[in-house]
This record gives sequence, C-alpha cells and structure tokens, in this order.
Amino acid sequence: MKNEINELVFCPLGGSGEIGMNMNLYGYGQKDNHKWIMIDIGVGFTDDSVPGVDLMVADPDFIVQRKENLLGILLTHAHEDHIGAIAHLWPMLECPIYATPFTAILIKEKCREKKIQIDGKLKIIQLDGNVKIGPFDINYVTLTHSILEPNALCIKTPVGTILHTGDWKCDNDPLMGKKMDEVKLKAIGKEGVLAMVCDSTNIFTEGRSGSEKDVRDSLMTIMENIKNRIVVTTFASNAARMETVFKCAEKVGRHLSLVGRSMHRIYNTARECGYLQNLKPPLDPRDAKKIPKNKIVYLCTGSQGEPMGAMNRIVNEEHPDVMLDADDTVIFSSRIIPGNEKKLFKIHNKLVKRQINVISEDNAFIHVSGHPGREEMKDMYNWIKPQISIPVHGEHRHMKEHFEFAKSLGVPQPALIENGDIIRVYPGEPEIIDKVHTGKLLVDGNRLIDEESRFLNDRKNIANNGLMDITLLVSKKGNLDRNPIINLRGIPADDEELDEILYDLEDEIINTAKSYSLNNKKDEKNLIDSLKSNLKKVIYTRVKKRPYTNIVLIRL
Ligand SMILES: [Zn+2]
Ligand SMILES: [Zn+2]
Repeated sequence: MKNEINELVFCPLGGSGEIGMNMNLYGYGQKDNHKWIMIDIGVGFTDDSVPGVDLMVADPDFIVQRKENLLGILLTHAHEDHIGAIAHLWPMLECPIYATPFTAILIKEKCREKKIQIDGKLKIIQLDGNVKIGPFDINYVTLTHSILEPNALCIKTPVGTILHTGDWKCDNDPLMGKKMDEVKLKAIGKEGVLAMVCDSTNIFTEGRSGSEKDVRDSLMTIMENIKNRIVVTTFASNAARMETVFKCAEKVGRHLSLVGRSMHRIYNTARECGYLQNLKPPLDPRDAKKIPKNKIVYLCTGSQGEPMGAMNRIVNEEHPDVMLDADDTVIFSSRIIPGNEKKLFKIHNKLVKRQINVISEDNAFIHVSGHPGREEMKDMYNWIKPQISIPVHGEHRHMKEHFEFAKSLGVPQPALIENGDIIRVYPGEPEIIDKVHTGKLLVDGNRLIDEESRFLNDRKNIANNGLMDITLLVSKKGNLDRNPIINLRGIPADDEELDEILYDLEDEIINTAKSYSLNNKKDEKNLIDSLKSNLKKVIYTRVKKRPYTNIVLIRL
C-alpha cells in the first residue's frame, strides 16, 4: 500500500560547513518523489592550496540527477556566495530562475559574459513579491544586509511554513533601499513558522552589527582631516558604502573616480534600478590624474588584496592611472575576511614603507558587518518563534554555536546539519533521513573539475617539485639515440650544475635502457617506468627534489 503522507525536507548542498558556495534545496512530496526548489547558487574562494584556481562551486550532482523535479532556483541577494555559480551550473539544471531586479541584472550580465542563453527563464520578482512554484508559495521579505535588495524567503507549503533568512542584519538606517520589514516578519511569526533556516556568520559577535549610517558619519570626519590624495577600497557590491564615499567626497570638495571593473558594474546596475541618483558623476581615472592631490578621492576594488584588484595594482605601481605618493591616504573600508590577512598586511606594509597613511579597522571605525550579531539574532528568533531552527551559512563551529544559541532561546527543536544531509522537517520530529553526495567542483579555466582530479594533482606536483621532461629517440633498428632531449624546469641548480645533472641523466638513461628490449611494446612501458624512478633518484641525490617526470619515446 502506498504511503500517502507528503513530507517536507531540507538539504543544503553547499554553505553548511563553510562560508561560501551556498546552495540549498527544499523538497516536498512523497518519499523518493519530491518536487524541489533551490535557493541560491554561489561560489566559494579557494585558498593557496590549489594553484591556478580561484573559485569553487558546490557539486550539484544530486539535483542534476533529479532536474526534471527541480521547479526553480530562487535567489535571495546578489553576493557572489549566493549567485556566483549560476553561469557555471545553470546549463546542467535549465530551470526557471527567480530574482529581484538588482540581482536579476547582475545575473543577466554573468550569463551574457559566459554566452549562456537564459532569456525567458529569468523571472523578475518585485520587492515584497510573491511567486507560486508547484507546492511552494513563496513570499519575498525585504531585509537589510550589505548589498541592495537582500531578501528572506517565506516558503509556505501545505504542511507548514519555512523562513529562509538568507544573509541579513538589522540596520535601522541602511541609507539605500528599504528598511527591514519588521512588521511582515512579526506577522509571519504570528501565523506560525515550522522551521527557520538562518545565517550563522556572526554568531560569535556580541551585541549588534551597527548601521551604514554610523560608517558614513565616521568616514565623513576622517576625510575632512585628510590633506592629500584619498584612496578608499571596499566591497564593490556595497552600493550604500559607494554612495557614502560619493557623498563624503562631495562634502569635502573633491571629485570621485571609480577604479576597477566591478565598481563600474555595481554603479551602473544600481543606477539602472533607480539607486545612486543625484550624485556628481564620477571622473574617469584617466582624467582624475590631472586633478590636484587634495581634490580627488579614488574608490577602488581589491579591498581583500585580490591580486587582480585595483588596490593591489596601485600598491605595486602597476596601475596606469592611479599613483600614490608619501602623505597620501588609503582607507580600507572593509573587514579582513579570514584567510586574507597575509595578502592584506603585505599591502599595508608596502604602503606604510612609502609613508602612505593606512586607515583600517585596526585604527578607525570604517566598516560595519552585514551579518547579525547575537542581539539581532535574538530579535529575529523573538519575531519568528520557529518550532525548528536549522543554522546554515557558516563553518561547523558557527553552526554549532548557533544551534546552542537557538536552544538557549527556547527553540523547541534546533537541528544541527551539514552539506548533504536531508533533514525531514515534516511529519514528525526533525530527523536526518539521508545523506547525499556533496563536494566541491573547482573552476579551472573554462572547466569544472573534481577536487581529486589528476590535472590538479599534476599541477600541484609540478608547482612543488619542478618538472623533468624527456624525449627519447629510437632508431629504426631499435637503438636508443645517445642524445635524448631533456628539459628541466624549477630545479634549484645553477647552469654549471645543471650541465652536470644532464650528463648524469644521459648516463643513467643508457644504463637503464641496457636491461630492456626496445623492440618489445611491453618492455617499452617497463623501461619508461624504470627510467622515471631511476632518473628521479639522480636529481634527488643532487638537489633533494623529486621532479614531476614525463618521458616519451619516439621511434624514428
Ligand atoms: Zn552570504
Ligand atoms: Zn550576502
């Protein structure tokens, strides 16, 4: 007999266990035949352990296998950790995409850049809008964060309501965009919320995150007291901060120049959506060069020390239009994202060495976070009063702390999960009923590759150990040519020593080859294997490195 009860499940494929790569699924229906919606599809940033790869995305395999049951992707807001994977993964999913206007423009642009046709699939939802997708009735609720148009999604299903908060904070004066819709949140709470799936980023932060207005006031005071050039670097996506810098520049009688592609992208997108109006237009950096030092403010990308960001290029004196001198000032109006300390302090040090003033979170109030501190979290729990709390958007340590926090507030059923867990929230007690495949895919060139991919292992191996590339020539009679082509790269030996190493390698090739017949295919493979091992030993004896070795045999 068929079980007729429909169940409601939640499954994060990314973002629960790390900050980044958010990808959340909600499923409703009969066991093993759920209809799914996806909320957010973001990227994560790799560390130095993967040479040549900067971005990664959550492995969507589980939902790709069920894509005929994926009814849509809904985006909460336009940060890269929420939308950055769309152009990489959407072609595998091909479902409708729902986003508010600002987010939608940025998505269109991403897809256009990658030549992905999403026209007709991208549906624009107005702020506070509503959309019915299969069994899900979804309401967008305006929140505040560090970007325009951040939304929580209130997801009504036939068996209960879920509030998916997305990223948020309580900012009573966000300067741009709407205020947080506290009334609507309270009304949702009053109607009854089965589960709240909530941001854990700042769970270790006591108090409140503070307002963009406070930063504007502080930056105004700081800039009033600066004499020469001012460079401000911040997250380009924070349009309110951008407006702050425009307004501060105007107040202190300076021109503003935007530097870096994403600054222009956000400026134009925000204006297209009706924000950032009535500002003095920015100067082209090429023209800004001609302006006296005390009449210009540059607003640049690269606040995290990104190698291609404008800030890094300016500091390394590689930027064609922005040059700094002693007594100029650089303001880092952002926090250091953990992991970027080394890169950023290197930049600070280079500036300080050149007598350029550095103002950062270390010595001034120049930034507020976009995520809620514990007092704000308390407010949200009081308004929503969920039966079940599921912490997401955090590393394990954040989610565990958030779980304990929810428990301490009296949430009846807090639940701790991680990527790949399918948690059933209805019917019955919340329970992890399955564990599905998850992982990371690395964005390498124009491909997505597995973390364990041999390409990557080869590359790490070459990066760490150097490269030995050998071509052996075999005559028609089956004799080995005495002059193999040997290429060594990244071996720590000077030219003279390299010559000696090459002699040793040639000798070893002749020696090793003696024991094998070159006319036998099977022997040929054995010869190459022995050569690899013996030739690495030759190098190791000299320089204590074992280079990645490639040997090919060519028959003339
Ligand atoms: Zn986020
Ligand atoms: Zn965000």
